[in-house]
Amino acid sequence: MTSSAKRSCGDCTLCCKVMAIEALAKPVNAWCLHCRPGRGCMIYTARPAECAAFACLWLASDLLDERWKPNRSKLVLTTSEDGIEVRCDPGFPNAWRREPYASEIRAWAVEGESSNMTVVVIVDQRMILVTPDREFDLGIVGPDERIVRELEGTKVVGASVLKESELDDRASDPAPPA
Ligand code: SF4
Ligand code: SF4
Repeated sequence: MTSSAKRSCGDCTLCCKVMAIEALAKPVNAWCLHCRPGRGCMIYTARPAECAAFACLWLASDLLDERWKPNRSKLVLTTSEDGIEVRCDPGFPNAWRREPYASEIRAWAVEGESSNMTVVVIVDQRMILVTPDREFDLGIVGPDERIVRELEGTKVVGASVLKESELDDRASDPAPPA
């Protein structure tokens, strides 16, 4: 929890539930022991650096309106290396299917298809890759695993999960003989 120039978390504490905090060995989807839900962090001035540095997209960007405030939408948005991640409050696993969220998430997927950006919804640790016309439920993706998309042009026609080591092997494989 933190604050941006324009917004502050106020009565939202949802990231203190859905995010893992390595320094506290706090798993995902469990309230931090230092959180008073809806009130704030009880160790605010001594909170771990990763908490101090964290800002969800609603907090960091005024592109998302008040409906997207995490304790209202039940969705915490962050960026990833490849695009956007939408984490559902585990108490509201279908929050992302409600409006206006479902339409907006689909619109980002449409935009992402032309700009090579992924939109991933995370429900109970399951990762769902959302494309303009499909959803790929990829299950739990480990920290050493990556989502690999199969493309036809810019269209995503398949998705799988590979270990990073398998990706490295692929990258170092010699080119097949001509
Ligand atoms: S989810 Fe966003 S708005 Fe809510 S407490 Fe965390 S950083 Fe603040
Ligand atoms: S230490 Fe504070 S800011 Fe960090 S997860 Fe716990 S309650 Fe939230």
